[in-house]
Amino acid sequence: MPAKIVLATHNQGKLRELRELLRGQIEGLDVDTEVIDAGAAGAPDVAETGVTFAENSLLKARAVAAATGLIAVADDSGLAVEVLGGAPGIFSARWAGRHGDDAANLKLLLAQLADIADEHRAASFVCAASVASPSGFEAVEEGRMEGRLLKAPAGEGGFGYDPIMAPSALEGPYAGLSAAQVPAEVKNAISHRSAALAALLPHLRQALAQQEG
Ligand code: IMP
Repeated sequence: MPAKIVLATHNQGKLRELRELLRGQIEGLDVDTEVIDAGAAGAPDVAETGVTFAENSLLKARAVAAATGLIAVADDSGLAVEVLGGAPGIFSARWAGRHGDDAANLKLLLAQLADIADEHRAASFVCAASVASPSGFEAVEEGRMEGRLLKAPAGEGGFGYDPIMAPSALEGPYAGLSAAQVPAEVKNAISHRSAALAALLPHLRQALAQQEG
C-alpha cells in the first residue's frame, strides 16, 4: 500500500503547482507515495490566523493532518516589497480588500509604487512549506524568489502578482521578463515554492519513515 500524503489546499491552481513540484521531487523519497488533495480527503478549510508565512503554513498542515489522519503538506506564500517594509506579505491575497482578487491587488500595488524608481523596486516572493503528521511530527522551511517590480503588467501566464514581478534568476532569453511571460516550468525551476518544497523534502522523508517504523 502506498503511503499517502495530503496536500492541505483547496485552491486548484496551487494544487496543480504543488503536485507538479512534488512529483518532480518525490522520486527522491524511498517509499511508494500517493499525493491527494485536502478536498478529496474531506478536510475543512483552515482559518489563517497566524502572522507569519511559517505560522499559517503550519496551521494548515497541522489541521489537515488532524482531520485526515494522514501526513499533510501545506504552504503559505506572498509578495514582500522592500520599500513597503515587507508588505503586502501575509496580506498578499487580500491586499485590495477582497480575498483572491488578483487583478485588484496588482492594480493597487502598482498605484502605491507609481513614483518609486526602478532601483528601489526590489521585492521577493516568499513561501513557507510545512509538513505535519498525525503523530505530531512537524517541520517548516522557507523559500524565496527575488526580483524587481515592473511599472506595468506583462504576460498572461502564472497568477497573482506574476505579471509585475521580474525574477532576478531568469537568464538568457528570459532575462528581464516577468514571471507571467515565461513557461511554467521555467518559473517553477526558480520559484519560492519549489525552493521551500526542496528544503522540506528531508523532513517529509523523516515523517514518512516515522510512520513506517
Ligand atoms: P496564499 O494562498 O495564502 O499562499 O496566498 C498567496 C498570495 O500571494 C496569492 O494570492 C498571490 O497574490 C501571492 N503569490 C504567492 N505566490 C505567488 C506566485 O508565485 N506568483 C504570484 N503571486 C503569488
